[in-house]
Amino acid sequence: MKKFFSCLICICLMLLLCPSVGAAEDVTSVASREDLERIAERPSGSYELTADIDMGAEDWQPIPFSGRLNGNGHTIYNLTVRAPGADGAETYDGNGKKYDTALGGLFSTVTGAEISDLHLKNAVVCVETDRHCFLGAFAGCAADSVFTNCTADCRNRLTVSSVNAGVGGMTGFSLDCEFDSCGVDAELVFTDVNTETPCESFLGGMYACGYGNVKSCAVRIHGFAEVYGYAHNGGVIGMFRLPQRLKKSFAVRDTAVDAEISFFEIAPSRRAYCDPLIGENLAGACHLYNNRVQNYQKNEFRTPVRLSPEQCEAPQYSEEITPPTCTEWGYTTYTCPVCGYFYRDRYTPAAHDYTEMRIEPTRTKDGSVTYTCAVCHDSYTEILPYIWAERVELTPETLNLPFLGQAQLSAAVFPKNVAEPGVTYSSADASAVTVSPDGIVTAFKKGTVVITCKSADERVKSVCVVTVTSSAWEWFCNGFRKIG
Ligand SMILES: [Zn+2]
Ligand SMILES: [Zn+2]
Repeated sequence: MKKFFSCLICICLMLLLCPSVGAAEDVTSVASREDLERIAERPSGSYELTADIDMGAEDWQPIPFSGRLNGNGHTIYNLTVRAPGADGAETYDGNGKKYDTALGGLFSTVTGAEISDLHLKNAVVCVETDRHCFLGAFAGCAADSVFTNCTADCRNRLTVSSVNAGVGGMTGFSLDCEFDSCGVDAELVFTDVNTETPCESFLGGMYACGYGNVKSCAVRIHGFAEVYGYAHNGGVIGMFRLPQRLKKSFAVRDTAVDAEISFFEIAPSRRAYCDPLIGENLAGACHLYNNRVQNYQKNEFRTPVRLSPEQCEAPQYSEEITPPTCTEWGYTTYTCPVCGYFYRDRYTPAAHDYTEMRIEPTRTKDGSVTYTCAVCHDSYTEILPYIWAERVELTPETLNLPFLGQAQLSAAVFPKNVAEPGVTYSSADASAVTVSPDGIVTAFKKGTVVITCKSADERVKSVCVVTVTSSAWEWFCNGFRKIG
């Protein structure tokens, strides 16, 4: 019992000393490419997108991530990755052999992360390397992470001369991840340029290799693989393999697949794994429930051929710009006039063509701005309140002047966006001190006079106390003394 109470006291003390216990965690807003870059400074933080993000023409350097990222339904578009991230991870092949691996995607590695409601549109992850390498739109390798309501619209292309390599839609490698209600529309290309050493090649719509659950997803892939070694092509997963015996069970369930896969496998002993769901499901360890193969086309070649979505060696693309509409993205279509292959790039967000109708506010009535789309007539109105003056700053606040002395007053009205920015001046005794409309004070009679400065809307005022230090006579005598 004594122990129990001392524990209780300890807990109470801890709660008192740690005000952060139970407090909501900080969530950092992400609204630009620069904000995304800053995630590298605190990869375990919590983030949320507050806008769609155009990644622009500049290549992106993949960064590691281990926090929370809520996309709030926003889209990161025009992502281009042409080199793996600085960090890597360990991957394995079908025999459990391990490899230090380079990784490319929006993130290089994703570890213990939660990523939700985030869309990648026109992501291009295109890497050529002699290292072991995995690519995916979201990450090269994801471990112990959950992806919910995310989509990847991507063209990922890996050209390698190494041994263990793969290209996926969502991620390259998966170590115990969950993909829930995600969508992939991917063009995936794997090109092995090493005809000597057999490679292990992986290609899959959700992930290329590893293990993890896929639930209620939709996958559409167009895959191409030139493999001098062992090919593992799957509409959803290239190869499912647990690293060791695990108690946990895994499944692909309630998932729709549309897959077209073209490949050749030149290997000492042919296996040529290709399947609309899982290319090679090692030991049948991944269960399959209630999936729908909507379309599956396998084009398998027995001899080396060029396999890529474009048929020509060096296509000369023609460009056609489709402007955005009120509700649809704009983009540029690049078409090869010889083979007819085309792809869309350089997306621009949907936008209305608004014209503005402005009614200025008055002292008695708010104004408004009405935006109306010339195309769809979508319309909304913003109220323009009349902004009253809150404060006038008059300098100086006091003045000492001799007879006929002059000084300039200066006034500033706040807030800065006040509706009527001007001021008016007045003198309490114009026979003693005058003030001009632009604030020039002139002294005429010995004594003290208050000059008032009012905001143009007459809401607020400020004063300057002017003391006239000499009379006309004193000034006259003083003048003579100086001359004398
Ligand atoms: Zn062509
Ligand atoms: Zn419109």
